[in-house]
Amino acid sequence: MAVNPAVTGPAVPDARCVIVGGGVVGSAAACFLVNQRAFTGRVIVIERDPTYREASTPRSVGGIRHQFSTAANVRISRFATDFVRNPSRFVRTERTSADLAFVENGYLMLASRAGAGMLERNVALQRELGADVAMLGPAALGKRFPWLNIDDIALGAHGASGEGWIDPHALLNLFREAAIAGGARYVTGEVTSFQRVGDRITAACCGNGETIAADVFVNAAGASAATLCDLARCTPPPVAQRKRQVFVFHCRTPIDRGCPLVVDPSGTYFRPEGTRFVCGLSPPPDADPDCDDFEIDYSWFEDRLWPLLAHRVPAFEAVRVTGAWAGHYDYNTFDQNAIIGRHWELENFFLANGFSGHGLQQSPAVGRALAELIVAGHYTSLDLSIFSPDRIARGAPVVEKAVV
Ligand SMILES: Cc1cc2nc3c(=O)[nH]c(=O)nc-3n(C[C@H](O)[C@H](O)[C@H](O)COP(=O)(O)OP(=O)(O)OC[C@H]3O[C@@H](n4cnc5c(N)ncnc54)[C@H](O)[C@@H]3O)c2cc1C
Repeated sequence: MAVNPAVTGPAVPDARCVIVGGGVVGSAAACFLVNQRAFTGRVIVIERDPTYREASTPRSVGGIRHQFSTAANVRISRFATDFVRNPSRFVRTERTSADLAFVENGYLMLASRAGAGMLERNVALQRELGADVAMLGPAALGKRFPWLNIDDIALGAHGASGEGWIDPHALLNLFREAAIAGGARYVTGEVTSFQRVGDRITAACCGNGETIAADVFVNAAGASAATLCDLARCTPPPVAQRKRQVFVFHCRTPIDRGCPLVVDPSGTYFRPEGTRFVCGLSPPPDADPDCDDFEIDYSWFEDRLWPLLAHRVPAFEAVRVTGAWAGHYDYNTFDQNAIIGRHWELENFFLANGFSGHGLQQSPAVGRALAELIVAGHYTSLDLSIFSPDRIARGAPVVEKAVV
């Protein structure tokens, strides 16, 4: 594989690594590090809340899709599918895919006439990269999904295999257990400052007085990524904390069991969850402020979501909301893509941030990529250098168009 000189660095197979943030991304990095054959160092994960009450990971809806517009994102998610189908192929674990509750019903991306060209271009790229995505015109859509209203739909793209959703807790637990079994240590504490010598971080300092020295540090702080960079006194990445609400509803009329995760041209999505459904819709950019609360605005469902749902699926005219939760996207305001690799101002500080709503499915590939960067000094499997943080310093965005 060609090595991109902008993102390589010294190999540090014997590094003492501190990972700040033990969510799915930090735990994946810990797990893949201890599973690297050449790694002889130590891994310490500092997590302020081992119950993950406010973390993004357990608030995710667990989706894995291959339907992205950026080639690297398609590759990353194809690896996620391989990983969840058989984690023990990649890391030492007793777990099987069934433990991750992978429901392989696919995504169904719908496009109006205006969006059909873009959907076609995206699907062409995805197929070129081996994704099993079928294009369905209105007649085929009506036959396959008779409960859909396709009056204003020109095209649909359905992930025939490899896409669906998993249990986010289960993936997090798998990474944590495998990391700990491989020798990683989880420490409960909130990093409140860093010690630095020039452009190197030398230690992370926790609010409880504990100071942990290391050779390499990883920012896996999710929606708090920018705050952590402030604490390290380096330029923060353009990652904002953006609230997303998920509503749970019951529909009186049964819909077929193979219902995929449907993404409407309006951006509204829904998928089955047991005998119910979950759904959501991101607010428009001008009504999407930085936000750290978890309050639910039920009028968002009544006034915005429900009419769109009932338009797309007439059976959804009679539904009952049975629950809701809110969580935060670690939203990359620069180009809605992950930021992975060494911080451009610091020699030993790695970022794994800005996943903008697709970090759960990206965690296996990102965890492996970080482990390779640290141990070998460059990527040895999937080349993720396109997501290098230095693109921000250079003002060169890599825009992902398929953000849900
Ligand atoms: C409603 C919703 C739906 C989503 N749906 C999907 C989906 O379908 N598919 C998908 O792929 N992704 C989805 N996502 C996105 C996904 O959940 C996130 O991208 C992913 O969980 C990010 O993982 P993380 O480990 O980076 O962050 P987190 O899970 O937030 O973990 C970061 C951890 O860092 C800790 N931390 C922060 N600061 C400090 C500090 N100073 N000291 C110590 N610890 C610290 C926090 O306590 C936290 O546990 C969704 C997100 C939301 C909110």
